[in-house]
Amino acid sequence: MGRVADEESLSKQRVRLKVQGVVQGVGFRPFVYRLAVKYGLTGFIQNCSSQVIIEVEGDPNLMSSFTDKLMMEARFPIRIDSISHEKVDPKGNEEFVISMSREEGPPASMIPPDISTCPHCMEELRTSKSRYYNYPFISCTHCGPRFSVVLQIPYDRSSTSMASFSLCVSCQKEYENMQDHRFHAQTIACPVCGPQVTLLNHDGDTLSGDWLKNSHQALQKDQILAVKGVGGFHLLCNAASRQAISSLRIRKKRAHKPLAIMAKDFESVQSQFYVSEVEAEAIKSPSAPIVLLAPKPELSRLLPLESIAPGLHRIGVMIPYTPLHYLLFTDEIHYLVVTSGNTSGMPTIYRNEEAIHQLRSIADVLLLHDRDIVMGCDDSVGQESVGVFQLMRRSRGYVPDSMTIPLPSHLQENRDIDWPTLLALGSDMKNSFCYIHQGIAYLSQHIGDLNTLEDRTYQQSAQDHIQNLLEATPALIVYDPHPNYISSQNVQKTSQVPLIKVYHHHAHMASCMAEHHIKTAVIGCILDGTGYGEDDTLWGFEILTGDYVSYQRIQYLNPFVLPGGEAAIRSPWMTGMSLLFDAAESEDQFREWSQYCFPTHRSHICLVLSQLQGNLPSPRISSAGRLLDGISAILNICLESTYEGEAAIQLSEVMEEENLRSQSIDISNRYPYIIEQNKWIIDGMIKELMQDYAEKVSLVEIVRKVHHTLASMIVEGVHRAKNQTGIRTVVLSGGVWNNRYLTRVTKQYLTQQGYDVYTHHKVPAGDGGIALGQALCGLWRWADEHVSIGSK
Ligand SMILES: [Zn+2]
Ligand SMILES: [Zn+2]
Repeated sequence: MGRVADEESLSKQRVRLKVQGVVQGVGFRPFVYRLAVKYGLTGFIQNCSSQVIIEVEGDPNLMSSFTDKLMMEARFPIRIDSISHEKVDPKGNEEFVISMSREEGPPASMIPPDISTCPHCMEELRTSKSRYYNYPFISCTHCGPRFSVVLQIPYDRSSTSMASFSLCVSCQKEYENMQDHRFHAQTIACPVCGPQVTLLNHDGDTLSGDWLKNSHQALQKDQILAVKGVGGFHLLCNAASRQAISSLRIRKKRAHKPLAIMAKDFESVQSQFYVSEVEAEAIKSPSAPIVLLAPKPELSRLLPLESIAPGLHRIGVMIPYTPLHYLLFTDEIHYLVVTSGNTSGMPTIYRNEEAIHQLRSIADVLLLHDRDIVMGCDDSVGQESVGVFQLMRRSRGYVPDSMTIPLPSHLQENRDIDWPTLLALGSDMKNSFCYIHQGIAYLSQHIGDLNTLEDRTYQQSAQDHIQNLLEATPALIVYDPHPNYISSQNVQKTSQVPLIKVYHHHAHMASCMAEHHIKTAVIGCILDGTGYGEDDTLWGFEILTGDYVSYQRIQYLNPFVLPGGEAAIRSPWMTGMSLLFDAAESEDQFREWSQYCFPTHRSHICLVLSQLQGNLPSPRISSAGRLLDGISAILNICLESTYEGEAAIQLSEVMEEENLRSQSIDISNRYPYIIEQNKWIIDGMIKELMQDYAEKVSLVEIVRKVHHTLASMIVEGVHRAKNQTGIRTVVLSGGVWNNRYLTRVTKQYLTQQGYDVYTHHKVPAGDGGIALGQALCGLWRWADEHVSIGSK
C-alpha cells in the first residue's frame, strides 16, 4: 500500500530548471518543447533576460531522462553553461507550452553570433519547388542573422529588426509547427512576407527587372557591386576579371593590400586550394570566417592571383554564409573578390542611406535590402598555426560570444562580492574593446583603427549596443597610457568613473593568459609593431615575467632609431638604413651599404643620416615588427608599406613554402647576436646578413637564418627569465606571432626544453586581442585592492 501511495506522490513531481549559456536565439525553446512533449511532461519554458526558465511536471523517471537529454542533445549553436534544479509544487498543467518572454534581472544569457546558412535551408534555397526557392533571406532556428539584428534581449522577433515584417499564413504555420525546423524561429521570413532586395544604379535610381539576373549581368560585365550582407556592406566583383579588380583597387584607393575571395562552395575551395583538416573545419563552421589558404598552381590559370594578393603566397578565402551571397554565383562565376564596403580608412558601412551616399563612387550597382542591420560586424579572419585555427580578426560569427575568464580564487569562492562592470578600451590600432560583467568577458567585434571621427563614432555606438544588451554601464575603465591614443586621451578628460592604466605589452601577455585560463605567473614573449612602454619609449620585442597584477621586463631588443617616427613605418627602407647605421663600422661603410641596398633612395641618405646621428628628432624603438620591416627593406622585399605591417608580412611570406615543406627545424643555422646586460644587440646579425646578401646567398636561406636568430634570442631570453624566477609557463603574444614559421620554431624549441608554451587561438595575437588582457589586468588589480584574501 505504502508503495502505491509513494508512486502516486512521485508521479506529481515538478521541478524548475534555470538554464544559463547561449540559450536565446538558437532554437533552445523549440528543442526543449520537443523533448518535453516526447517524455509526456507538462509545464512551460520561458525566456527571461537573465536566463531561460523551464518548469516540467510528470513522472520523475521521465523527468530525469528529460534533464539528461537536455544536457546531452543540446547542439551548436546552443551552449549550456549551467542548469540549476529546484523542486516546486505540482500545478497539474495539461500540456507543455512556450510562454511569453519576461524581462527581469540582469542579462547573463547573451544572444549568439550571426550563424551561416545551414545545409537544410541551403537545400530549400536551391529547390525550385520550395516556397523559399532563391529567396535571399531564408533562415531557421539553426541559422541566420542574430547579433546583427538584435536590438535588445530577451531575444524575440519584436526585439529584432525583423519586427516590422508580420508573418504570412504559411510562415505562421511553420512557426507554430513543432515538427518544422522553423518552429519558433524568430527570423522566419519568406518571399511573401519577408525582406526584399532593391537594386540601384550608381545614380541612386532603382533598376527594374529581376534583381538576381541584373546582379549576375553586372558581375559578368566586370562591374563592381555594393552588397548589403549580414554585418555590413561588401564591395564585390568577379575574381576572374583583372579589369574589375583593378577598377576596385583604384576606386577604393587600395593599391596592394590583399583582397579576400568568396568561393561558390567548399568544393570550389578544395579543388583549387591546399586545405588541411583544421582549415576545412574552420571554413565550413557556422562562423564562416575568412581563412588564409595557399592556392594550388592551377588556380593561377583561373584567377589573377597577383592582383588579388600581391606578393603573398596565401589568399583569404571564405564560402557564402548567407543565402544572398550564395545566389550571386553562377555557372560561370565561381569566385568573387569580396572586400569591406567602405571608403579607404573608414568603418564598414551598414546602413542603406550611407551606402547610397558613400559607395556610389566605388560601386556600379548597389544591392540593398530592407532588413536593417542593427550593429555592424566585419568578417572574421584566421589561419592555421601550430596545428590549431588561430583568429587574426575576431568579429562576425564569434561576437558577442561570452568568454569565461580566470578569476582570483578568493573572488571566485566569494559569491557575495559586488562585481564592478568593467570596460577595457583596447588599442587605437585594430581596435576592439572588452566588457567584463558579472565575471564574464565580452570581447567586441573588430572596430578597426581609430583614426577618424567616424571610427570613434562607430566604436561608441558598438559600446552603447553591448551595454544595452548587458543592461549595465561600466564602473571601471581600463586604458592604454599611450600619449597619442585618442581613446585614452578622451577617457582621461571625460570619465566619471575610476580609471586603471595597463601598459600595452602587459595587456598582450595577459590576453594570452586569459585565453588559456592561466592564473599563475608566466614568461611572456611579446613581439609586436609598436606599443608605449612605461619608460616613455616604444616597445615591441620583450621578454616579460608577471601575472595580471604586475610584470617585469627581463630582456629586450636594444632600441634603434626610427627615422622620422611614423614616416619610417610607412617607409621601411628608412628603418633598414637605421639598422645598417647601427651595424656599420664607419660612416663610409653605412653609405656603401645604403647605396647597395637602396639605390633608388640614394638622394635621401644624407637626410636619414642626420636623423640617425640625432641632429633631427626621431624616436628610438625596440620592436620586432619594425626590425622585420627594416630587414625586409634591406633585402629588397618591400621598401614601402602601403598597409600596416606589409614589409614584415612580405618577409614572413618568404618562409611560407618552407613552412609547409620542412619537417623538423634546426635553429643553430642562424646569425650571431650578443646579450649585454638585459639587451639583445643584433649588429652582428645585420653585418653577416649584409655579407650573405652581397655574396648572393639565396633569399630563402637569409630569411630562414633571420627567423632562426629571432627564435634563438627568444629561447635564450626565456631561459634567463626562468633562471631568475623558476617559471616554466610561456605565452607568445603580439602581432608578430601571426608569423607561422617563427611561431612554429620557437614553440618547438621551447617545448623540447620542457616549457609549457601557449599561443593565441580564439583571441587575436595582435592588437585586436589586447582589450581582453587589459580587462583581466584591470579586474585582478581591482580585486587586489578591494577584496583581500579570505574576506567575506
Ligand atoms: Zn537554416
Ligand atoms: Zn511568409
